[in-house]
Amino acid sequence: MLKIKGLIFAGCLLITQISWAQSKRSIDTNPLAGTIDFHCHAGPDVSARSISDLDLVRLAKKEGMRGIVLKNHYTMTADRAETAMKEVGGIEVFGGIALNRSVGGLNAEAVRRMAAMEGHRGKVVWLPTVDAENNFEHGPGPRKFVSVVKDGKPVPEIAEVYEVIAKNDLILETGHSTPAESMILISAATQAGIKKIIVTHAMLLGATVEQMKQMAAMGAVIEFCWQAYLAKKGNKNLGDEKAVITCVNAIKAIGAEHCIIDSDLGQPGNPLHPDGMRAYIIALKANGLSEHDIDLVARKNPAKLLGLPTE
Ligand SMILES: [Zn+2]
Repeated sequence: MLKIKGLIFAGCLLITQISWAQSKRSIDTNPLAGTIDFHCHAGPDVSARSISDLDLVRLAKKEGMRGIVLKNHYTMTADRAETAMKEVGGIEVFGGIALNRSVGGLNAEAVRRMAAMEGHRGKVVWLPTVDAENNFEHGPGPRKFVSVVKDGKPVPEIAEVYEVIAKNDLILETGHSTPAESMILISAATQAGIKKIIVTHAMLLGATVEQMKQMAAMGAVIEFCWQAYLAKKGNKNLGDEKAVITCVNAIKAIGAEHCIIDSDLGQPGNPLHPDGMRAYIIALKANGLSEHDIDLVARKNPAKLLGLPTE
């Protein structure tokens, strides 16, 4: 029995290695081969979305992508990821939970149940996004918000959330916190034993290159999203060249080993996620990011964070 189990295990390993090697070979012809989109909005959602979870997973698989992470601001996506992955097969689908008011804000129990969801596809915990205090300051109308830092320290509820993240080896994302808040949150996270930290679209939230370098030195990975670089007029997916150059320079300054790129797409009227990812990779390459660095930010770094083999 043990022998049979061993054989099956070896077989699985072989299949994983072959598919990874195959995807490596096809990178030359398909820039999307082996990539992972870490930031995908899809329906059903509270706000209108351009595509459903299932259709997105089917499309990403067809385009040769290795995986996607489903993100929703209002509900967890660990269950949806498991359903989509089972239904489509042959592609990695992950989810998580954003700690906005709809799940009770900084609710450790919600994170605990998300991590325990069948299939264990729930890997990411976003600190408040749409309900972040920072978002509230820039958003329209009076709303309640979820604070993450007070008087220079993480609010008390963060401690239990961090404990659950560390215990389950989940990925902490800083959500829509300010760069100053993110520094405080990253430092507390590493002290709490959290090994995987992503600063959610740091530059979009005002982080300077110096701040991002500092965050990376503290152990965080910096996220860059194509949505921020779409052209303002005409064919959006051609990208805004000036903005793309800023992105390339930032990745080079921080070091590609500390960065990931993804789409943050799913909004009606914007390109679909795989189209965005492809355009992003082509634009980065055209503006001087090396193939080696693209491999890190679009394939290896996200895979490592998600616990997938990278060789
Ligand atoms: Zn987003």
